[in-house]
Amino acid sequence: MTTNWTHAFEVVKILQEAGYQAYIVGGAVRDHLLGIACKDIDVATDALPENVQELFPKTFATGIAHGTVTVLHGDAIEVTTFRVESKYIDKRRPSEVRFVRELKDDLSRRDFTINALAMGIDGEIIDYYGGKEDLQNKLIRAVGQPKERFEEDALRILRGIRLAGQLGFSIETQTRQAMTEASHLLPWIAKERIKQEVSRIWTMVDPEISLRELKHPHFDEFLPGVFTILPERHTPFESTAEGWALFHYFQSDTYEFPYSNDEKRLNKEVVALMKRVSKEGWTYRSVFNSSESAVRVCWEISQSKPFATKQHLLRWLQDAPIRFPKDLALSGHDLMQLKQRNSGPWIKKTNERMADEILAGNILNTRDALKKWVLEHVE
Ligand code: ATP
Ligand code: MG
Repeated sequence: MTTNWTHAFEVVKILQEAGYQAYIVGGAVRDHLLGIACKDIDVATDALPENVQELFPKTFATGIAHGTVTVLHGDAIEVTTFRVESKYIDKRRPSEVRFVRELKDDLSRRDFTINALAMGIDGEIIDYYGGKEDLQNKLIRAVGQPKERFEEDALRILRGIRLAGQLGFSIETQTRQAMTEASHLLPWIAKERIKQEVSRIWTMVDPEISLRELKHPHFDEFLPGVFTILPERHTPFESTAEGWALFHYFQSDTYEFPYSNDEKRLNKEVVALMKRVSKEGWTYRSVFNSSESAVRVCWEISQSKPFATKQHLLRWLQDAPIRFPKDLALSGHDLMQLKQRNSGPWIKKTNERMADEILAGNILNTRDALKKWVLEHVE
């Protein structure tokens, strides 16, 4: 067991010695049984958040209202009070959290059977909802009545689809049916939450299962278009930003996710680069000054693919005489000296003209050739 497990077990032990119930729960138990390393370990307990805060010297109040305290004990371990979610008023999030005394009740509000497993201090597995069997059969199955569970929180639809891809599991038939039936509730879910789940699909080792599940008319309303045009995809995007840039390309501007500034920049870059590629084709000129990310995404979108694979594309890029203005053999400083002029917009313009000449094959990217060209052509 890794050190974070040791730390989590210590937290469980400290809680138990203080007279509380405590278990490791959720994804960590699931991943442990699958033999996969997990990122974070969650502990569930009947201790109230204030009891947890008293018991451990270093904590911070992550989500007190929902019963969660982060305990810094070697690692950051989330300790959450046994709870159920009672009413769902606005379809977005549970309106009320009620603390309960029984582990079984806490596990009953969890989304899928494989996520509703708990582990005690001796490593014993507590399995009220058939999670172990579903793990063996590689099935994503809702805990309880699937229809109710997705109506309570429609984000679970995407969590299920994401988990299926992440683990290479299938979605159990009734659960899948309930997912599609509840899909009309997805527009009520905060876009930030949707974005988090879908982002994880973009960088999955093999996103094919998740994409296939999403490629369904029911999901078109909140993730319009892209899944019908995405090829059967077996490789991850290099980054979530690249996944979103591809998604964004096929959207109208009226359908926006809360993109970060970097994502917005790449989205714009891809649109601009696609315009150039559509007009001029795949030339060193059209990709000049575009980031590798933008080039990769455009290659995915582009109908005319002159390169068989992304590797071929990247090799072609490496052979470019210049890729960015900084690659020019003559710097802005050189230009100023050469022309005895101050800095100004003329530098950028001259750089563009030199790049054009180099990329058209008219001159070489050497200091001598560029100097000669500047003296002849720049006022
Ligand atoms: P991973 O960390 O690999 O993404 P996970 O299952 O640990 O998977 P988390 O988001 O960390 O996912 O959630 C921890 C646990 O909390 C889940 O295993 C599940 O039991 C419960 N959970 C999380 N989100 C929901 C939800 N929307 N509805 C019901 N239970 C949930
Ligand atoms: Mg987790």
